Amino acid sequence: MLNDIEKVLMSEEEIREITKQLGKKITEDYKGKEVLLVSILKGAVVFMADIMREIDLKCTVDFMVVSSYGSGVKTSGNVKIIKDVDIPLSGKDVIIIEDILDSGLTLNYIINMLKERNPNSIEICTLLDKPSGRKAEVTAKYIGRTVPDAFVVGYGLDYDEKYRNLPFVGILKPEVYTK
Ligand code: 5GP
Repeated sequence: MLNDIEKVLMSEEEIREITKQLGKKITEDYKGKEVLLVSILKGAVVFMADIMREIDLKCTVDFMVVSSYGSGVKTSGNVKIIKDVDIPLSGKDVIIIEDILDSGLTLNYIINMLKERNPNSIEICTLLDKPSGRKAEVTAKYIGRTVPDAFVVGYGLDYDEKYRNLPFVGILKPEVYTK
């Protein structure tokens, strides 16, 4: 598996440090409030598990499953909700916990849908941001790290359902997905 990685982009230690800082910032910004953390399976599951333990607030967690059909390594924006959030959003301060923000098409769709349920607020916390790929106007309030336009895997992120269990984020060798 390691042979398929071109370069480590974020080591385990860096991820831990960044997650701690993001959790601290969220804790300060939402002081005295209760937050609802919503993560999108499966990619964000590892980040969600780590960041929720760095947030020192009363919080509830929920998960969504979406599929966004596209060819190869790109999202189409054609989002289908496979599993919706179970918790009602009305009046809630919602933070979407995401692995990577690329074109923004998936989150744009989801945020517009969730806004209709009258949450008090809705923000995005993403471990990785790839602004060069942006197609929809989506901005994350909390960003772990901006990454270049390369396909990354590990720490929850997959290629063809594999590499999610790598403890770091790395750039996948292009020959792996162009084969
Ligand atoms: P967007 O709709 O912002 O283009 O893409 C969002 C989703 O596409 C992410 O949650 C992730 O599942 C997937 N994605 C985008 N860029 C990458 C990448 O570099 N690596 C992996 N593994 N998935 C990505």
